[in-house]
Amino acid sequence: MDWEPDAAARLEKVPFFIRKKVKKQIEQYVQDRGGSTVTGLDVAEARRALAGEAGTGENRPGGKDNGTVPHTAGGLLSAGDIERIEKMVESVVDLEGLNTRCRQVKVCGGAAGCPLSLIQDRKIAQSLARVLDQSGLEDRLAGRVEGPVLFHHKFKVAVAGCPNACSQPQIVDFGVIGQSRPGRGEDPCTGCGLCVETCRENAITLAEEGPGFDFSRCLNCGQCIQACPAGAIKEEESGFKVLAGGKLGRHPRLAETLLDLADEDQLVKALGGVVRVYMDHGRSGERLAGLVDRLGIGRIREMIAPSDNEDSGPGVD
Ligand code: SF4
Ligand code: SF4
Ligand code: SF4
Repeated sequence: MDWEPDAAARLEKVPFFIRKKVKKQIEQYVQDRGGSTVTGLDVAEARRALAGEAGTGENRPGGKDNGTVPHTAGGLLSAGDIERIEKMVESVVDLEGLNTRCRQVKVCGGAAGCPLSLIQDRKIAQSLARVLDQSGLEDRLAGRVEGPVLFHHKFKVAVAGCPNACSQPQIVDFGVIGQSRPGRGEDPCTGCGLCVETCRENAITLAEEGPGFDFSRCLNCGQCIQACPAGAIKEEESGFKVLAGGKLGRHPRLAETLLDLADEDQLVKALGGVVRVYMDHGRSGERLAGLVDRLGIGRIREMIAPSDNEDSGPGVD
């Protein structure tokens, strides 16, 4: 079906992960009314109709709108759902008790129910806040500052439920991203191609025996697992990407990967270890980013690794 430029521009504003579903709904709506091209007015009408108000179909010559609300059944999203999800994705959730005078713990909209989240954002953020509570970092940082605590004085943690990273874990001291790594499932692939269409990283190729994954491109977002209707893709592994040493300010720096596909225990220990190393080896006034720059992320990884008599930690590619 053709889309007029105005209609296509409106569709672009819908979050990418539900865009395909919304497109299908709108096309069905137009088709039901005898149309073959989607106009801007159709998009507005369809969204109103899907929200519960019947569309008029007046703009379609011979339109056969019968006043019913189409296609809200069968798991399709209403405009109200879409708006709710849009708000979640945009928001960073403020959870009580996570922020103190000298630290900030940001959580993405996963904590408010964003359907893309791969982790229990709220629980993870609370566990990390507990590690910080017990570390003595608050007193250490407070002791450094004379006068008001400014934004750059604070130790910052960000938790993101998926690789979309809405809470910006790349620009904080310690960042966490939920991960879900795909693998071939037990059931046969039908060759429908939905996984290939879904993957924004072009990380999937289809062969006769099923999907193949290019893990140098894959971000472990898990969306192909959700998209496959046949059970031919399954979650092979899940966990957390752990980042350290990011900051903004006068000399911005992106955080580097400390651990990949870590489990919750390894994540919690990593934060404890990073804070310990920071308190023991950070120079006066130095931010964690400066320490990571000075020692290198590899050295930090070694310094937080469990001793020989503990379980070995996860690796990094
Ligand atoms: S990071 Fe992922 S889970 Fe969190 S709000 Fe963004 S899209 Fe949703
Ligand atoms: S998990 Fe990897 S292969 Fe699957 S959609 Fe995400 S990036 Fe693509
Ligand atoms: S793996 Fe699943 S989504 Fe991909 S082509 Fe096969 S059946 Fe379709």
